[in-house]
Amino acid sequence: MFSKLFANKRNILIASILTLLSLILIFTVIVKNNNNSVTVSANQNITAYKVSINNIDIGFVKNKDIINNLVNKIKEEIEQIDNTEIYIDNNKFSFTEVAINNNEITPLDLLKKRIIDNLKYEVESYCISINGEKIVYLSTKDEAKKILDDIKSMYIPDISSDKIVLNSVEIIEDVKIIPVKISPDKILSYEDTIKYLLNGTTEEKIYEVKKGDNLWTIAKNYKMSVNDIVKANPGINPELIHIGDKINLIVPKPFLTVIVDYTKTYEKNIPYKVVVKKDSSIYRNIYLVKKSGKLGKKEITAKIITVNGQIDSKEIISEKVLEEPEVKIIVQGTKRLPEDNLLVAFLPEGKGIVTSRFGMRWGRHHDGIDAGVPVGTPVYAIMPGVVTYSGWKSGYGKIVIIDHENGYETYYAHNSKLLVKKGDRVARRQKIALSGNTGRSTGPHVHFEIHKDGKLLDPLKYLKGYYGK
Ligand SMILES: [Zn+2]
Repeated sequence: MFSKLFANKRNILIASILTLLSLILIFTVIVKNNNNSVTVSANQNITAYKVSINNIDIGFVKNKDIINNLVNKIKEEIEQIDNTEIYIDNNKFSFTEVAINNNEITPLDLLKKRIIDNLKYEVESYCISINGEKIVYLSTKDEAKKILDDIKSMYIPDISSDKIVLNSVEIIEDVKIIPVKISPDKILSYEDTIKYLLNGTTEEKIYEVKKGDNLWTIAKNYKMSVNDIVKANPGINPELIHIGDKINLIVPKPFLTVIVDYTKTYEKNIPYKVVVKKDSSIYRNIYLVKKSGKLGKKEITAKIITVNGQIDSKEIISEKVLEEPEVKIIVQGTKRLPEDNLLVAFLPEGKGIVTSRFGMRWGRHHDGIDAGVPVGTPVYAIMPGVVTYSGWKSGYGKIVIIDHENGYETYYAHNSKLLVKKGDRVARRQKIALSGNTGRSTGPHVHFEIHKDGKLLDPLKYLKGYYGK
């Protein structure tokens, strides 16, 4: 009850303050308006000019000279900054006589800013015109000339080498450099001009290859053909693009066609012929290089024409042989291999006679072959492997057994001396023993066995295969 009464009192207080504030505001406005009307009556309207530039109103001036002076000042300032003469003839200034209050005259600095914002001006430029069409504008004639020269030289091969003689470099289009007055924003930089003339645009669009992309999907996504992408990326292999490769998506449409005609002299190898001579006096497992071949050399002079760097034609003018190639001669033996010749697998060349073959012998199976050799003849491992046994074995005498780790095992028996021990790793044709007559043996010889996955093989058949004949 008490608090409600208090709240009512507060509302009344707020209302009173608001009313008072409103009264003060209204009073102030009236006084202010009165003041204004006092000024107007004190200052007479004056004759002035409303100025517009290119149909845009920019303010009021007391006389027309103010604008002339400002424009001259602005011209001088721009010329000083741009370091070139500017032309402002295309601007349309118009003046309309008005009667206004003195304080409506536009301040000079504001006027100047509005003129600068709306002033159209031109500078002298040099236009590269191609087939009668104005294509690009440069600041100076020298720059325009340099750009044309630089584009030409991009397609000239390195002529510092005396093997290249430049016949001609020409642009086939009708190119002229003509002076033209132009708005400065139409003038391109050296780099942009080069880019524009080479590609038909200064735009760049590079795509980075992502996982799962191929040229066909990229082409489809960018509404291009694969052929276009290849054109935009000379030398690209459409089958071989990698994640992270950068692909140019702008197909160049060059304005200029640079034809370079040059003569190039270079050396090229001449391949040699290979002659195979058959020789029936040599065993068929022998293949000898009797004479190694040698590449020949010739000097070629060709006239090459490139169009924008791509070879368009290549005509060989002359060819001079500097060095004749030398024929390679190979001798291939045709003589059938005798069984004894196969013994070279585990005996020195020319040693050993097959004295007993694999198979049934006197009602008993002979598990290997016997090669008759004098005691002390070196015995070799036929393939690399690991020695799994080296010592005395009943019937075999002093024997070496090698596991070749490919399913094959070989046995070398009746030796006089063992040169390897169990666990040794041996190379092909490593000497592992000296032959002898130990164990069940009736004369000096090597007993040789081959096991494949635990089964016995006929060593002569195996060795024939081993030598490929
Ligand atoms: Zn035997």
